[in-house]
Amino acid sequence: MLYTCSACGASMVYGPEYHALVCPQCGNTSEKMPAGAVSDGKTCAACGAPLQNTENRLVFQCTYCRSWMTIDPNLQDQNAPKKIRPFAFGRKAAREKILDAFDHIPFMPKSFLAEADGEEIEAIYAPFWTYDVSAEGRYEYDAEEQRSYTAGDTTHTDHDVYHLYRGVEASFDNVPVDAMESLQDPTIDASVAYRPDDVTDFDPVYLAGTDAFLPEKPAEDEGYRRRAADWAVSSVLAKEDRLTNGYSEVRRTYADVHAHADETNAESTLLPVYRYLYKGFGDHKIYMDGTTGRMSGDAPCDRGRVLAHYLIEAACVLLSSAAVIGILGVLL
Ligand SMILES: [Zn+2]
Ligand SMILES: [Zn+2]
Repeated sequence: MLYTCSACGASMVYGPEYHALVCPQCGNTSEKMPAGAVSDGKTCAACGAPLQNTENRLVFQCTYCRSWMTIDPNLQDQNAPKKIRPFAFGRKAAREKILDAFDHIPFMPKSFLAEADGEEIEAIYAPFWTYDVSAEGRYEYDAEEQRSYTAGDTTHTDHDVYHLYRGVEASFDNVPVDAMESLQDPTIDASVAYRPDDVTDFDPVYLAGTDAFLPEKPAEDEGYRRRAADWAVSSVLAKEDRLTNGYSEVRRTYADVHAHADETNAESTLLPVYRYLYKGFGDHKIYMDGTTGRMSGDAPCDRGRVLAHYLIEAACVLLSSAAVIGILGVLL
């Protein structure tokens, strides 16, 4: 489907701030997807130019006429998204959030996020599968319990030694696993959180102007399911301390925690990600959740500016000692 402005015919994009399609040409807004030509994914529905590399894409911008259109056959794919969490703020706001977060870092290179409109930041609807995961754990511990009491002038301490058996059952709904090879990066997991309340039924209107992709593999994929299960296992292990509350000298002698990610009700979901790749002073990747603003990544540091700073400081020290010597010279 082609997103054409009903007023001027230009290609429209979804504006998170307006909750509507916006025409970058004339400012016209539309809450509904304008009726447009069907896009077969092979040729541009506006100018007829051939489209390339559309296999995994849900949306495409024609390299000739710059029109945005959905790749309609891919929207019918069995792995096509059923849910989406729309972007809640635009690139400009994303840029400000990154700058705010790195505000305290000195010597930020001048070229870092140099463009005020945030155009250097990529907006991507990243494909995720969400799984319901059940986890089970069995633990054994040697533990001690100490009790002190006073009889006459003497304080006695009893040490009771126990062998503890503990079992845990846990279930997790909608554990998200990103389903795109190029995004598989620990930092994206740290920045993108799945919150069921923010997820809505998929509507292609959100895709206008933003790259969006199909999952690379189906929900049955072993690797995806293992990642969801591993996440559940580490969540269970992280709460292990609670199992031995009240005991001292706890020593674990056995642990078996395993989890199973169920693919039968896994849902294909698009989550909004801002990505800023900064090449300079080492490669730096910053990811941000496009709804919550949660961010991960590291900031670069301009070593030239650090050096300049220290040179100036050294010069100041030199100057002030020269001044002190000067004063001393006068006094003597
Ligand atoms: Zn227009
Ligand atoms: Zn075109």
